[in-house]
Amino acid sequence: MRFDCTEEQDLLRETARNFVDQVCPPEQAKKWDDEHHYPPELVEGFAQLGWLGLALPESVGGGGGTAVELAIIGEELGRASLDVAQTYALTLMAALVVERHGTAEMRDELLPLIMAGRRRLSIGMSEPDAGSDIAALRTTAIRDGDSFVVNGQKTWCTGAGLPGTDILAYVRTSVGGKKHDGLSALLVDPSANGVELRKIPTLARHILGTYEVFLSDVRVSAGRLVGPLDGGWDVMLGGIDVERVLISGGYVGAAQATLDEALDHAKTRRQFGRPVGEFQALTHAFADLQTEIDAARLLVYRAAWLHSVGQPCGPEASMAKLTGSETYEAAARLGMQVCAGMGFSTESTMSFRWRESIVAPISGGTSQIQRNAIARSMGLRGY
Ligand SMILES: Cc1cc2nc3c(=O)[nH]c(=O)nc-3n(C[C@H](O)[C@H](O)[C@H](O)COP(=O)(O)OP(=O)(O)OC[C@H]3O[C@@H](n4cnc5c(N)ncnc54)[C@H](O)[C@@H]3O)c2cc1C
Repeated sequence: MRFDCTEEQDLLRETARNFVDQVCPPEQAKKWDDEHHYPPELVEGFAQLGWLGLALPESVGGGGGTAVELAIIGEELGRASLDVAQTYALTLMAALVVERHGTAEMRDELLPLIMAGRRRLSIGMSEPDAGSDIAALRTTAIRDGDSFVVNGQKTWCTGAGLPGTDILAYVRTSVGGKKHDGLSALLVDPSANGVELRKIPTLARHILGTYEVFLSDVRVSAGRLVGPLDGGWDVMLGGIDVERVLISGGYVGAAQATLDEALDHAKTRRQFGRPVGEFQALTHAFADLQTEIDAARLLVYRAAWLHSVGQPCGPEASMAKLTGSETYEAAARLGMQVCAGMGFSTESTMSFRWRESIVAPISGGTSQIQRNAIARSMGLRGY
């Protein structure tokens, strides 16, 4: 068993670390979040480094990278903030969906723009009555000549209001069979007639923002169908493992940075004549947390490695998502207790970590849903 990286992977990590130091250190990520600001320089930076095409095959101008490289980038960007890592993941996942399932015309049109950071997709799965039970979605698309007519409502569409964004909306194109059947994926232009967006006020994730999308008699050309008609469930699940690996790298990086910040504070803040980190109540909490972070990191790279060698890794990716997200939340909770009054000030980066960590075990499939998936792989009936 080997735990080392290749020279190229070490270099990638160093480059990503320098990028975070120069472009988006945590204080800067917090400022963008406080100001609800989407910084174009972030995605431009990803594009210049070739990261937006990294997971695409070389035949379409991509870098031919694997889930291991994505996890490395996710981990380093997570040190800045989860939202920064998510900004990368969102565009990258879009590239993968278009590359895997798009028509030749769609790929020619969109992939160069996505790799250049000028186009992105927002994922429109969730609806007001379809969250964890995503196959219960009800937005309809009825074929009419060369178009589909779409009616319904999407919610939590991350980044749907950003410039150059299409919504990859999952819709019901036929009824009558199992609920997973009859779904299709359509690219919806948010500026089309009949589309309305409303930004949802949230505790964090303010760089990308997340939106309700109201769809009323929206005409979408049949050429914007992504993947087969009624084959949307497979499109939805197609990239889910690699997405979980990438974002779980983000959780681990965010958890480690949070612990490092809390440690800095504990080593310098003195009470009762000594640094507070010397009190055993805190020392053991730090030791436990570092152990949990290291365990989460190993789960991420195990899933990444399995994916990179073409092995199935569904349960392993779920374990990485479950442990990574809950460890980030635990790190931020401990960080708040260690920084105490200073952390409670909304000027502190710790308060920002705490706000954004809460969503980690919710978005991208909740912890309960990950546990169900892991239980199913053990022959148990996880609903
Ligand atoms: C910031 C943010 C960004 C998001 N971005 C996107 C996006 O870009 N695109 C998109 O489509 N969606 C997005 N989502 C939606 C996200 O995927 C859902 O919030 C998530 O899947 C949970 O759905 P829900 O919030 O409706 O909770 P519910 O499904 O209503 O769940 C409520 C509670 O019940 C539990 N529960 C539900 N079913 C089960 C079960 N079978 N077994 C055990 N427990 C269960 C859940 O774990 C949870 O604790 C985002 C959400 C947030 C908060």
